[in-house]
Amino acid sequence: MGQETPCNVFIPECKACCCRPRVVFTNTDIEVLARHFAMNEDQVKELYLEYHPDHIYHAKRKKRYCFFLTDDYQCGIHEVKPQVCKMYRCLRLTGFWESTRGVK
Ligand code: SF4
Ligand code: SF4
Repeated sequence: MGQETPCNVFIPECKACCCRPRVVFTNTDIEVLARHFAMNEDQVKELYLEYHPDHIYHAKRKKRYCFFLTDDYQCGIHEVKPQVCKMYRCLRLTGFWESTRGVK
């Protein structure tokens, strides 16, 4: 999701439900975030990420959402969000939900 996307049409209804699951930050994602915040990677991990026993990092949580989601349901790191978020294709945005209306 992001600031200038069709998401804004849906956000009053979906409340950015796509930002509730824990998102994984790869090593590359962490490097990108560190450059963005002019920090080193350890600082980024300490401030924004949690380590999971499966040897992955994911974003800390804030009120059941990703830490980076703003109060108005925007991605606070849209330009440098992790690959998994960039690749995500929401079924609302593809028109999938509308196409199933009336289907039983
Ligand atoms: S990607 Fe989908 S669920 Fe997420 S904010 Fe946009 S419309 Fe809502
Ligand atoms: S990084 Fe941004 S797009 Fe990804 S889950 Fe967090 S708030 Fe949502």
